[in-house]
Amino acid sequence: MDSSEFRQRGREMVDYIAEYMESVGDRRVTPDVEPGYLRDLIPKKAPQEGEGWADIMSDVETKIMPGVTHWQHPRFHAYFPSGNSFPSILGDMLSDGIGAIGFSWAASPACTELETIVLDWLGQMVGLPADFLSFTENSKGGGVMQSSASECVLVCLLAARAQKIKELKALHPFVEEGVLLSKLIAYCSKEAHSCVEKAAMIAFTKLRILDPDADLSLRGATLAQAMEEDRAMGLVPFFVSATLGTTSCVSFDNLAEIGPIAKEAGTWLHVDAAYAGNAMICPEFKYLMKGIEYAMSFNTNPNKWLLTNFDCSTMWVRDRFKLTQAMVVDPLYLQHSHSDKAIDYRHWGIPLSRRFRALKLWFVIRNFGVAGLQNYIREHCRLAKCFEALVKEDDRFEVSNIVRMGLVCFRLKGNNNNELNQKLLSNINASGKLHMVPASVHGKFVIRFCVCAQDAKDSDIEYAWDVITDFATELLEAEIV
Ligand code: PLP
Repeated sequence: MDSSEFRQRGREMVDYIAEYMESVGDRRVTPDVEPGYLRDLIPKKAPQEGEGWADIMSDVETKIMPGVTHWQHPRFHAYFPSGNSFPSILGDMLSDGIGAIGFSWAASPACTELETIVLDWLGQMVGLPADFLSFTENSKGGGVMQSSASECVLVCLLAARAQKIKELKALHPFVEEGVLLSKLIAYCSKEAHSCVEKAAMIAFTKLRILDPDADLSLRGATLAQAMEEDRAMGLVPFFVSATLGTTSCVSFDNLAEIGPIAKEAGTWLHVDAAYAGNAMICPEFKYLMKGIEYAMSFNTNPNKWLLTNFDCSTMWVRDRFKLTQAMVVDPLYLQHSHSDKAIDYRHWGIPLSRRFRALKLWFVIRNFGVAGLQNYIREHCRLAKCFEALVKEDDRFEVSNIVRMGLVCFRLKGNNNNELNQKLLSNINASGKLHMVPASVHGKFVIRFCVCAQDAKDSDIEYAWDVITDFATELLEAEIV
């Protein structure tokens, strides 16, 4: 493909995407295919000679699209939103065109500097303390983009591990690192995302998973007691991962209580706010961040709920040297003459190569403005409240979570109704009329309804509730018979 064909195909692709976005609602939200469906449609071997673009695009519509789950569909209410918007898509397009790999400042200065600046913007928007921002005088903090929240949690846990081993080594210089490692213990709530467990598994550290309170919030006293018990057994607390906006039901750990305990114990407090952190750009939600001043690190995913395409997971640290200490390896071929003055993001995470991801977030924040992004978040929260009201009006159903943001967990009432609710969800999903996923809340099977589409409307919420109640009526009538 030469540049003149690229111009033509590029325009066609933009048209195709715009058309797709405008008409995605006419498609089935989930595909009606079985595993392996594509095997029979695509040749077993790669073509020896290049193929015409028209043939390739025709296969997209006939072979790929039938197997796509449409995350931008107005009937998609599963998981969390998958951030997407035109300015973000254009940002990624430009990033791909530039094709720079910004692992160090010298490898592409704009890539590094824009990332630092945009993270300072977003850090201020969500209300992080000044020492998380790079421009604050004498600041040791700053932000970085990772490809996922899981990666943010992992690198913070690795940094905390390195920090604690260093401290212990200073106290016990003749004890092997492996022995010190065997004493380390991390903490999170039962409601924390499984990525915390995965991070501890990769880092080879113990993890104690604690019970939250009746509102599914991890409390300070629970953490304090667990640490005391563990210390009595000779273990060394080193890392606490608190969650603002849990995956199952968007509950919030009590940071204001956990913070002082984590600090007193000399542990690294990480705050995982993958979804709900985005909402902190609205002043009315900032009360949920109380206690953030105790955190060493914080992450949120604009690629979930800030109209920015995957991958865009933003993370801030209070002390970047404590992070990079755990990550620095410095071969000659990666060194440059500005290393002492500039940020080299290769030391802030696991991969070396990094895309120019800041462009899309910069485009999104500039094009929507803070006010536009706040409106988007508020509208999703308002619609979730509308959905909650509909559930509450129907006495066959109950709401299973405290609805603060865009997620409502609900179920058909009854103590032994897990199977019934499972059936309801699988019937609805099989119909292709809506897509939702389940969760376990207080040990009960619940259905998660998340407001996801960028321009979700009241009519989408009403439609969804009509579908759900129709299926429920049919199911309950069949049960009676
Ligand atoms: N943490 C929380 C609270 C989440 O809700 C999720 C995903 O939904 C994750 C972490 C994992 O996110 P990622 O897919 O970016 O690793």
